[in-house]
Amino acid sequence: MKEMVCIVCPRGCHLTVDDNMNVTGNSCPRGAKYAISELTHPTRMVTSTVRISNRDNMVASVKTSEAIDKSKMFDVIKAVNKMSVKAPCHVGDILIKNIFDTGVDILITKDVE
Ligand code: SF4
Repeated sequence: MKEMVCIVCPRGCHLTVDDNMNVTGNSCPRGAKYAISELTHPTRMVTSTVRISNRDNMVASVKTSEAIDKSKMFDVIKAVNKMSVKAPCHVGDILIKNIFDTGVDILITKDVE
């Protein structure tokens, strides 16, 4: 039996998953989906910042286009930290396409003129 807190919404339901992968404690179906995913293939959205090379002390926020394998989180952050981008850049611009062949892109989430 496993216990965890659902992080899908701020309500934070306390979930219990038995040996047959039956989930209890969830107030909605998303909690059950989260619990099964967390035990079988945990994923996370990753957010970070990238340096703006032609602006002093400026960064733009970035995020993954989808949740990625949790084990790749720190590799993604390291890859983003090694990069810089030139302003202007805009929300939705792709910083890294298909990072580590995951099918997930790293997107800019801030406009910098
Ligand atoms: S189970 Fe549903 S209501 Fe509860 S925290 Fe998860 S998403 Fe929110």
